[in-house]
Amino acid sequence: MIELHLHLDGCVRPETVWELAKEQQIDLGAKDLAELRYLMQVPEDCKTLHECLERFHVPLKVMQTADAMERVTFELVEDLAKLGLHYGEIRFAPQLSLGKGLSQDEVVEATIKGAKKGMEAYPQIKCGLILCCMRGENNQQENLQTIETAKKYLGDVVCAVDLAGAESLYPTENFAAVFEKANAYHLPRTIHAGEAAGPDSIRQALIYGTKRLGHGVNAVYDDALVQELIEKGITLEVCVTSNYHTKLVDSIEKHPVKKLFDAGVHVTVNSDNMTVSDTNLCKEIQIWKERLGFTDADMAKMQEYAEEARFLK
Ligand SMILES: [Zn+2]
Repeated sequence: MIELHLHLDGCVRPETVWELAKEQQIDLGAKDLAELRYLMQVPEDCKTLHECLERFHVPLKVMQTADAMERVTFELVEDLAKLGLHYGEIRFAPQLSLGKGLSQDEVVEATIKGAKKGMEAYPQIKCGLILCCMRGENNQQENLQTIETAKKYLGDVVCAVDLAGAESLYPTENFAAVFEKANAYHLPRTIHAGEAAGPDSIRQALIYGTKRLGHGVNAVYDDALVQELIEKGITLEVCVTSNYHTKLVDSIEKHPVKKLFDAGVHVTVNSDNMTVSDTNLCKEIQIWKERLGFTDADMAKMQEYAEEARFLK
């Protein structure tokens, strides 16, 4: 099995966050592990993407040292290997781990170390790292640095860049300078688009030259755009449970992914955030089959799409 879309900070084990907080003497505002687990998961009544994004604040508090970054990366590779994946791409924003003085290069070095250790311990899995730029207002320098860092470390582990964060607050068109640089350096990329915003956001991501879209499901409201995705062979990294949590759909059953797949769009199955959304690739596959009408043959086809679109071969 392959997974192309999951966030490191959304997949950290609550037990690890608990231990790291003790080690680092950080008060997370939880009296025990059960309460911490609650703070790290999307509540059933979560209303917006923005509110969901708040669930990442807790793990990020302890993801500010090289040791912590190495550990959480190692553990995620371990968790994915134990799930039965043979390939996974893990993404994170280095600029969110600079609170204790690390540089983006140092953050990335620590995660590469963790990923390599994980792959040594579990040789059945190969993992890549995707460096996320963040949607925001005053972070252009940080985003441009992420592109520089990606250029420096691009290789057998770091494999691409991404743009993540609050899409409805910070439109895709605001990030032209970031992707100009990514283009100049020929960096492979995927872009979160068409999740909290509509077809225009997706079109802008395509203008930036992406061949993959994080989510992209709002394309379904624009037939011409769906045709464009098919013609260009754009791969959609779809995360159904996460989309339900961020209110992109009001029930799992109403998710439009089957319509996109049936039309011929290269759809892939992903979990986005295993801890935040209390899911994983196996659970997602079950949901797609039991609640969205996908057959085993469909699932096999989507694994093929994922194989074609993976950044590391
Ligand atoms: Zn995502």
